[in-house]
Amino acid sequence: MSGLNEEYIISHFSEAIENGCIQPYFQPIFRSFTEKICASEALARWIDPVYGLLSPALFIPVLERYGMIYELDMAIVRQTCAFYRHLQDIGLPVHSFTVNLSRYDFTEPDFFERVIASTREFRVPPESLKLEITESIMLEDMEAFKRVFNLFHGAGFSVWMDDFGSGYSSLNTLQNYDFSTLKFDLLFLRTFSEKSRQVLAAMINMAKALRIHTICEGVETKEQVLFLRSMGCEALQGFHFSRPLSREQFISLLREDPERSESLADYDYWDKIGLFNFLSTAPLTDYHENDEACELGNASWYDRGTPLALLEVKPNSVSHVYASRTYLDRIRQLGYPSLDELEHRFNDHISDHYLMMKRLVTDAVSNQTVQRVDYMNNGVSYRLRARCLAKEEGKAMLALQLRTFQTEKEAHASEEMLQYGNALFSTCELVSVIYPDRDSSERIYSRESILSYASVGKLRESFQRFCSSEIHPDDQERYRRFSDLDSLDERLESGFIQSFFRMTSSAVWRSIRISRMPSDKERVYLYTIQALPDQEMRNLDTFVREHPNWA
Ligand code: C2E
Ligand code: MG
Ligand code: MG
Repeated sequence: MSGLNEEYIISHFSEAIENGCIQPYFQPIFRSFTEKICASEALARWIDPVYGLLSPALFIPVLERYGMIYELDMAIVRQTCAFYRHLQDIGLPVHSFTVNLSRYDFTEPDFFERVIASTREFRVPPESLKLEITESIMLEDMEAFKRVFNLFHGAGFSVWMDDFGSGYSSLNTLQNYDFSTLKFDLLFLRTFSEKSRQVLAAMINMAKALRIHTICEGVETKEQVLFLRSMGCEALQGFHFSRPLSREQFISLLREDPERSESLADYDYWDKIGLFNFLSTAPLTDYHENDEACELGNASWYDRGTPLALLEVKPNSVSHVYASRTYLDRIRQLGYPSLDELEHRFNDHISDHYLMMKRLVTDAVSNQTVQRVDYMNNGVSYRLRARCLAKEEGKAMLALQLRTFQTEKEAHASEEMLQYGNALFSTCELVSVIYPDRDSSERIYSRESILSYASVGKLRESFQRFCSSEIHPDDQERYRRFSDLDSLDERLESGFIQSFFRMTSSAVWRSIRISRMPSDKERVYLYTIQALPDQEMRNLDTFVREHPNWA
């Protein structure tokens, strides 16, 4: 561009600011899973009467060199705050905006005050203006930087580290400052090769272990989107979704589809979900909702990855918002052709799966701990674990982990039995099949609270251990007689035996039942533990008080 030189930039800068020729363009940032706009980055553009649209690469280095960048940044901050307010006022709110800051800003004495003045003037809550800085900032004057950083942090602003990994000091600075978010630039990774993907995966894993949010910019292809989503990268920005837009273009985008912008409540919801680490070997136990210290999960590469899914739970339905490849494989192994089919079964109120899932889901939503069920389908035993990541009015997000165990013949035998009793099982706390001739048992279904005592070839010993660990001392003698395997056949004349025992874990009554199962070849019994209605428990308490020698 002939004539456009440093001299032109320096001499026309103030005038350009005054005439509104310098203004922010806004590039939306999209939530990976919902593709809704969760924030927008303000990027300076100089619309020159002579030279047209100038990109920051042309004028920012010059302004930095001549000590003029501070005025540019303050102008962009103020205009961004004004735009935030304007969108609120016309009913098209966007939760957050981010602005880019230069290292020179941190040495200006009134920097903090000027940012605060803009947010006050346009009533922008501090959590809605994010500050992007690049790591090179911290190399200069550490003390000045630290002081201002802490001022912003204390006032409720989040600071994002831009272009993470492109410079030198990244890892150290993460320890010393509370960055809320790391922004990775795909362009810095140059090629989207296997190696660069591994680097990115490791960086995301590390960020999550430190409870720092992750965003990727420079996203240009669908392939990149799918990869970043499978890594659990929370938000994406790039030409694949949208270029930086003028204010008018941005407003048209929101007008066309007001649903495109994430609601304020959803922002917090997804922010929590975003910290879930897909790459950890123990993702469900690693996830801490509070900012307490969090153990670094062993990094695991995604393709060997855990069968993980995110399941959104609403009052009358569930739906997967994400499922890893291995999760899909397991689902097929269990006999479901697709996720839709599985959701259909979950959502189908009359099936046994619904009953079982409903309980797992309800327990997970109301407890902050990991919930588990063991069950069987299509001849495959499986273990499904669930943990609630975030809750909001009318919905909750669960992380699911699904493991399958293919256990040959026994599995098939038990499944036949299951067909008869599925509905019953889903109201039980434990369902096991006992094979006395083989001296073994197999657990088909259990709630989290009941530990397994089974060991192959030691059926009697397992019963003993279960008795001494789980059954209330006053009921143990009775339980031993009840579960005596040698006399079981005689006592099973009528098809089943049943009695009531208190379990130590909760000292509440359970009904334990052993039934004979049809089988020509060998003895097979079904063993179930079932909770009792409150009234029945009270009756039992009264009964025991009145008949202390019952046992
Ligand atoms: P940045 O903050 O890392 O911004 C991202 C840059 O990548 C932007 O370039 C954006 O237009 C571009 N970009 C976004 N998506 C894609 C994509 O998919 N592919 C490609 N090839 N590029 C993409 P831009 O607007 O030219 O800004 C360049 C840099 O100038 C910014 O990098 C930022 O460091 C700086 N800058 C921009 N505005 C300001 C400002 O107001 N103040 C300060 N101090 N620096 C600013
Ligand atoms: Mg930036
Ligand atoms: Mg960047």
